[in-house]
Amino acid sequence: MPRIYLSAPDIGEAERNFVLEAFATNWVAPVGPHIDAFEKEFAQAVGAPHAVALSSGTAALHLALRLAGVGTGDEVLCSSLTFIASASPITYLGAKPVFIDSEEQSWNMDPVLACEVIEKKVKAGKAPKALVLVHLYGQSADINPIKACCEKYGVKFIEDAAEALGTTYHHTSPGSHGLAGIHSFNGNKIITTSGGGMLVTPDAELAKQARYLATQARDPAPHYQHSTIGYNYRLSNVCAGIGRGQLSQLAKKVARRRGHFDAYARAFKNLPGVVMQPEAPWGKSTRWLTCLTIDPKKAGVSREDLRLALESAGIESRPLWKPMHLQPVFAQAEYHGRGVGDKLFETGLCLPSGSGMTDAERSEVIDCVLKLFP
Ligand SMILES: *Cc1c(COP(=O)(O)O)cnc(C)c1O
Repeated sequence: MPRIYLSAPDIGEAERNFVLEAFATNWVAPVGPHIDAFEKEFAQAVGAPHAVALSSGTAALHLALRLAGVGTGDEVLCSSLTFIASASPITYLGAKPVFIDSEEQSWNMDPVLACEVIEKKVKAGKAPKALVLVHLYGQSADINPIKACCEKYGVKFIEDAAEALGTTYHHTSPGSHGLAGIHSFNGNKIITTSGGGMLVTPDAELAKQARYLATQARDPAPHYQHSTIGYNYRLSNVCAGIGRGQLSQLAKKVARRRGHFDAYARAFKNLPGVVMQPEAPWGKSTRWLTCLTIDPKKAGVSREDLRLALESAGIESRPLWKPMHLQPVFAQAEYHGRGVGDKLFETGLCLPSGSGMTDAERSEVIDCVLKLFP
């Protein structure tokens, strides 16, 4: 039996044709027509005025934070329950992450808590420089109250929508609400370019600066001239071709992943102590990954029992993200919370959810879970 992965790439004919076109026209470089078209098509898909194609979501967040003016000694609020790439670019700039706990409705940053922390810091004399709001597992955070609090106190509002392409928040796209938002096209995301990212922004000047910094900060001159330090962060034209093909299939991929969630939810409806991730009332989740929590007292089995049972059947599953305030590398970082993320990490599991996963593979996963319960 071939292994069943959490979220494997799902590649089709459209991508192949765009890649062949890049080869046929010799645009095998970090410039070219696929990059321009991918940026336009992506901006349109998420309702953002400008999009800049980059080598990763992490690179996109690094540029967004730098262009927000984040620097040495600044504080940046960030969701604690997330992948480390939401926080590491804060440290690249010499700034300090301040981690905020989740709320239970969406598993994303608690707006009340976030605003309390901002107000406390403003009263103490120094507002945080920026806030990174993460939208996890294909579900939007409650953007409006967090954005409003940021605007009130002059905190730059940045969104990490790496896991939230195709998601809605009151009929808008997460990632398109602040100074800048970032997306990821890593191999396990809802669309992939084999590796890549996008920065979206309503600000034409910010987009221009992002392109400039992403191409080694090369000043306009016939020779090579630089008045600041930049990065090599542009996406390849070949990868952009893959991205264009993938993006054209986004609606289908969302429907397929939601279909996986619904099938799992139906199958596990009567399992004691098993609760599927809730869907927040403010939008539609893509169910990028199907996530559930297991209360070991009610279920008689733990999250880890289930993970190991799946593993021995050749099925990949993963605990939820380990919160940043529990990571050894952030042992000294400031954290505000009530243990919501800690509890989710202890009890939560992500199941295979790829849009390329077949019904038969999904049934194998379901059977393996059911077998563990009497
Ligand atoms: C994947 C991911 C990123 C980073 O994207 P890369 O393209 O892998 O650099 C950032 N934040 C979150 C929440 C992610 O899941």
